[in-house]
Amino acid sequence: MEFIQKKTADPSIEHFLDKAAESEISLVWDRHEGQLPECGFCETGLSCRDCLQGPCISHPFRDSNKAGICGKERDILAVQSLLRLVLKGTMTYLDRISDLAEGIESKEIKPKNKTKTDQMLREVQSLFQRDGTGLRKEFPRPLVRRWEEMGIFPEGITRDLFKASQKLEGGITDVEETLLWSFKASLLGCSAHWLYGRLKRSAFGEPAPTKLELNLGVLKKESPNLLMCGYFSPVLKRKIAEAAERHGVHVSVVCSDPLLPPFHFPVATNYGSQEIPCMTGAVDLIVVGDQWVNPSLMRVAKEFEVSILSTEGLVREKDPGRFARQIVEQTKKSFDFRRHIPRDIPEGTEVAMMGFSGDSVHAKKILGAMQKGQIRGVVVFCGSNNVKFTQDQEMTLLAQEFLKNDILCIAKGEASVALAKYGFLNPLSRGKYCGKDLSAVLSSLGEETPSVLDVGGGEDGAVIDLFLEMIKIGKKDLKASPIVACYPEANRSSEVTEAMWTVAMGVPTYFWPALPVTGSPKAMEGLSKFCEEKFGAKLHITTEKKMEARAKANLILETIMGKEGYGFSGKPWK
Ligand code: SF4
Repeated sequence: MEFIQKKTADPSIEHFLDKAAESEISLVWDRHEGQLPECGFCETGLSCRDCLQGPCISHPFRDSNKAGICGKERDILAVQSLLRLVLKGTMTYLDRISDLAEGIESKEIKPKNKTKTDQMLREVQSLFQRDGTGLRKEFPRPLVRRWEEMGIFPEGITRDLFKASQKLEGGITDVEETLLWSFKASLLGCSAHWLYGRLKRSAFGEPAPTKLELNLGVLKKESPNLLMCGYFSPVLKRKIAEAAERHGVHVSVVCSDPLLPPFHFPVATNYGSQEIPCMTGAVDLIVVGDQWVNPSLMRVAKEFEVSILSTEGLVREKDPGRFARQIVEQTKKSFDFRRHIPRDIPEGTEVAMMGFSGDSVHAKKILGAMQKGQIRGVVVFCGSNNVKFTQDQEMTLLAQEFLKNDILCIAKGEASVALAKYGFLNPLSRGKYCGKDLSAVLSSLGEETPSVLDVGGGEDGAVIDLFLEMIKIGKKDLKASPIVACYPEANRSSEVTEAMWTVAMGVPTYFWPALPVTGSPKAMEGLSKFCEEKFGAKLHITTEKKMEARAKANLILETIMGKEGYGFSGKPWK
């Protein structure tokens, strides 16, 4: 057998793999194995089905079919594969902000800060209707100027997304220009994401570091369990939380932001194992959004008689409060007639401190510690799970390597959840994982500071805020500081878009698995040499398929410390 890979690093998930095999329930790992070998053309970006004359490929080893029927050659095919992903990813951010704005405008919740909320709503309107984005006012002038000079500063949906998407429809746009359109589209996503965080915080309040419970053990044996899965509007989420609290229904989340002041939700598991909570028999009802939800959830839910409701129901219902009450009522009923189903909940939960955004992340102290050499650099963990890797393994091994080398690790969204499951966000973990200097810096930030700092849900844009704060306080470009972003198990198109804008901000970014550009030397050069020249940061794509996590860590450590242990400045770290 050619393909042997451990499926997950999470023992509580492993417990259910045998159960699934015995009951012939196909899980994500089985379907992945069934898909092998993967299509090499799609994987390397050398395929296209943008029109009905295709699909077409560019064959790397034959003299015949080198170009698609319309004449797209390998470099264009590959860079357009990237553009396609970025456009789709940007739409996810626009969809979220439009949902949130609509929810707040419905006046179903009383905004925490009305003036700020109204101001943010006007910004959102401007993003959708005109060319306005808050980026110009809020982002550092040199960064904005660089983007303007390159022609990638966002100009609104019509100028950015409509035009960029037409590059896939035809024309003679070359590799470099297509790459620039990809960056422009990604910066529009950045703008929407950043605005989302601002609007959410002004309407719901600033999140503060909060202690949460994680893992399947958060599910309750003796009370109704409602699971919220994927992204959906915080307004509906809040209404569900209020109704659930009144009716004694326990709510937990998967792939959904756990912090929504004044509520917070325990996290049952993360993206890669989203099918497993159903298999405990303890989930009575699942509410799902679109983003981050695998369609397979329907089949597994049916096996265990779990009701599943889509947030789309709100379109018919209109009133989020009434819809939330219906959801909670149905969860209670479901609990009553599911009593015959045994509940197999693995014991034990992990504790995590999450939500170190804004002032609680102490950007000034972090920069000070970097200048003194107590912290040798910063790695920002992003991304979710990808079945191509053992679930959570890359993320946890990389974090261990960095922490022991006194590198501050920051995480967001699903990356935080993956790390939290193994105790990295538990304040008691500092002594176990961190080097002496890093440990001292973290304890100076507060007793409850864990090894890895979570800056909030993947929806909140807190990493952008942190970067902006660092530029403001440090009075220099991010490219001049030893800061790296890392996607050890990337998956969704929104992560591709995010990686692109992170590079545009001057942060070297490592992305696994390889993006579908590896079939084109020119596209690869565009993401490395061209990006280095223009932004001072590369989007690092490695083509080696079976690279050990330690080798990946070494690549990143070299970027941070230099081959000789020197930082970006060229000076040795103390
Ligand atoms: S757009 Fe061109 S390369 Fe793509 S499927 Fe159509 S003919 Fe083929």
